[in-house]
Amino acid sequence: MSSLLVDDIGELVTNVPTPGGGPLGLRRDVALLVEAGRVVWIGPARYAPAADRRIDAGGGAVLPGFVDSHAHLVFAGDRAAEFAARMAGEPYTGGGIRTTVGATRAASDDDLRDTVRRLRDEAMRQGTTTMEIKSGYGLTVADEARSLRIAAEVTAETTFLGAHVVPAEYAGRPDDYVGLVCGPMLTAATPYARWVDVFCERGAFDADHARAILTVGQAAGLGLRLHANQLGPGPGVRLGVELGAASVDHCTHLSDADVDALAGSATTDDPTVATLLPGAEFSTRSPYPDARRLLDAGVTVALATDCNPGSSYTSSMPFCVALAVREMRMTPAEAVWAATAGGARALRRTDVGVLRPGTRADLMILDAPSHLHLAYRPGVPLIRQVLHNGVPQCRL
Ligand SMILES: [Zn+2]
Repeated sequence: MSSLLVDDIGELVTNVPTPGGGPLGLRRDVALLVEAGRVVWIGPARYAPAADRRIDAGGGAVLPGFVDSHAHLVFAGDRAAEFAARMAGEPYTGGGIRTTVGATRAASDDDLRDTVRRLRDEAMRQGTTTMEIKSGYGLTVADEARSLRIAAEVTAETTFLGAHVVPAEYAGRPDDYVGLVCGPMLTAATPYARWVDVFCERGAFDADHARAILTVGQAAGLGLRLHANQLGPGPGVRLGVELGAASVDHCTHLSDADVDALAGSATTDDPTVATLLPGAEFSTRSPYPDARRLLDAGVTVALATDCNPGSSYTSSMPFCVALAVREMRMTPAEAVWAATAGGARALRRTDVGVLRPGTRADLMILDAPSHLHLAYRPGVPLIRQVLHNGVPQCRL
């Protein structure tokens, strides 16, 4: 069995809390040994075992790979003109999703596959080693199933989002569309999906519809996630906590009751994570979520890209970390934790987002001595190497 030693590590972020290392579990003067895609040893560099191969981190920081728990990669078409119009003053309403639906339905499987792989590779080069991918631009039984089938080719974290918007052919008949989602569409999607998600928002799906879809999805064996409280206050966050969702995403407009519900959930065995998506606020020029309020209340917070062609066309987790620090007043340590261990919690994964013996050897090596540089040097390609399942992804 081939082994790989990573040494000359300037700072190792483990996300295993230690007395001196804070929540990031920072360690120095250590090396890390990989075998069969797993971390098998972390210890003082001077005691590092012999290995078949070696990667010299050059004094750079080593972190768990980013866990991007919210992305919409299965689509066709381009909405750059919509972005330009928005930057010129037009408001964001979510209605542009239907533009992408038309292009996606018209695209071939290979076109969709190329886009998914291109964006997945783009994210990997920026340190993302686990990526959730949603359907939601097909909105027919066949197009939702094929979206998930194509997503499942590159990730285990696939999410059925048939309830993204009510498609044009069901205009004025949302109950009929929800019936389709809960029936034949769910049946066709389930073989390729781990999760079910609903866009619970004014203009999309209300609480009754969301509850119906999530309940039937859960009965089919899918885990629950929710787009909630993005564009205004609403019932989504509390519904997600009530139903035991792994994550409620966006959380931009929260009441005290919403925060209390999330904080109460944080003390349970299976907390509902608040996943913040600052790329969406950046790209729609909207107010950012109040991350400090959530963190100070004890809520488990994750960061993700929301990568999609309309409201957040970025695959960059380092960009989201920088936004979280600059615009949402998270500390660099909080933001890095939220983008790695937080994302893993949002996907209820214990084998990623953390580096300790037994976890996946999913990690990144920075051209910088500490994790602080991810926010301190925004927009700079600091990621020198990425290991996914122990396999180097970048040519050095
Ligand atoms: Zn989304």
